[in-house]
Amino acid sequence: MKALIIGGGIAGSVTAMALQKAGITSTIYEAYPHGAGNTGAFLTFAGNGMSALEAIGADGPVRQAGFDTPRLIFTNGSGRRLGEIPNGGAVSGGKISQTIRRGDLYRALQSQATQRGIAIEYGKRLIGTRNAPGGVTAIFADGTEATADLLVGCDGLRSVTRRLIDPGAPAARYVPVLNTGGYSTGVNVGGAPGDFHMMFGKRCFFGYVNAPGGEVWWFANPPRRDEPESHELSAVESRRWTEILCELFAEDAGPAVEIIRATTNRLAAWSTYDLPRVPHWHKDRMIIIGDAAHATAPSSGQGASMAIEDGVLLAKCLRDLPLSGAFEAFTALRRERVEAVVAAGARSANDKAAGPVARVIRDLMLPVVFRKMSSGKAQQWTYGYHIDWDEPVRLPANAA
Ligand SMILES: Cc1cc2nc3c(=O)[nH]c(=O)nc-3n(C[C@H](O)[C@H](O)[C@H](O)COP(=O)(O)OP(=O)(O)OC[C@H]3O[C@@H](n4cnc5c(N)ncnc54)[C@H](O)[C@@H]3O)c2cc1C
Repeated sequence: MKALIIGGGIAGSVTAMALQKAGITSTIYEAYPHGAGNTGAFLTFAGNGMSALEAIGADGPVRQAGFDTPRLIFTNGSGRRLGEIPNGGAVSGGKISQTIRRGDLYRALQSQATQRGIAIEYGKRLIGTRNAPGGVTAIFADGTEATADLLVGCDGLRSVTRRLIDPGAPAARYVPVLNTGGYSTGVNVGGAPGDFHMMFGKRCFFGYVNAPGGEVWWFANPPRRDEPESHELSAVESRRWTEILCELFAEDAGPAVEIIRATTNRLAAWSTYDLPRVPHWHKDRMIIIGDAAHATAPSSGQGASMAIEDGVLLAKCLRDLPLSGAFEAFTALRRERVEAVVAAGARSANDKAAGPVARVIRDLMLPVVFRKMSSGKAQQWTYGYHIDWDEPVRLPANAA
């Protein structure tokens, strides 16, 4: 069996490696003309994602590229401590969440795929497909084509594969916070390295972590009810973002303003999105996984891990079942979990965008919530998920 993998991001590289372990050959087709660059934000990569990588022996280089982030500490804009929760560890089989630059995560996965002999073709943007009884053909913008037994759409939030499977598929839903962030030097914020400090500020959410080597990595989520026009955010200059953010945090206790002023990179901001329910994940010989099927708001901290779990589980399904059964089994095994993660991410993003009244209620409720979460048991369902590679997959009773 041969597979076409569309998209060389997180899901694409992992799926190719997992399929190889399952005895299926694949080629990755990536729209961009080259591999991951050095720029871009960082992300927290949860223990369940690391556990899924371990199932295919791909966890080592990712662990080396990131750093342990064992605790999340929450405060409000007055400086009051709202609580702290473990970030992996005992709840995820000892795996501690990592903080890692996006580009480093992509590179760690892409280079492992290449080292394992998997071909990645760059500059191949999927624009269409043709189905025949014996296979599926991908049509690329450069006029070339490729044919195989199946096609896995790992092409992210704006997936073309999603539309090819179902022209009526939903588009990404805007989530009412923006995302920006950076890397700062020369600020002494104290605290243990790797502790992630999260502040529900009076007007904006802020997070920062002490990285090894003395940098402080930070992000902020300016609330924004309506979706910005596509060019609006990119037209704002870096210096202006600094002013906007310093103004948003001016009334808050804590080091937000000092950290922002010490940023060494150019600042930019992005809109954030999710995809609560995509009714059809597969059709004929095509399936979508990762953000293409169920993007979650960045606030969940689970998008990368979900994409990785998907890739490993899909490979197991294809190893143990014929094609259509494999797609049905995958959907039945994944849908409830990923949709619950997307819903949790949307709740968390909305908390960050709370208005003045909701903010008061939120700040009263959060200490109770964090107390309940402090043992880690409440996060068990996300962080504690484990894929046993050797366990056979059977068509679940809830498969269509
Ligand atoms: C601001 C921000 C912060 C985030 N923070 C976190 C976090 O802290 N923790 C976390 O776990 N997740 C986080 N995420 C989410 C995480 O980045 C995604 O869930 C993850 O990247 C999904 O992986 P994917 O492979 O499905 O999609 P992607 O990583 O987006 O990869 C899709 C790939 O497909 C390619 N592609 C697109 N269209 C085509 C086409 N037509 N043909 C060929 N190739 C194509 C793209 O170029 C890309 O390389 C964050 C996301 C954002 C935007």
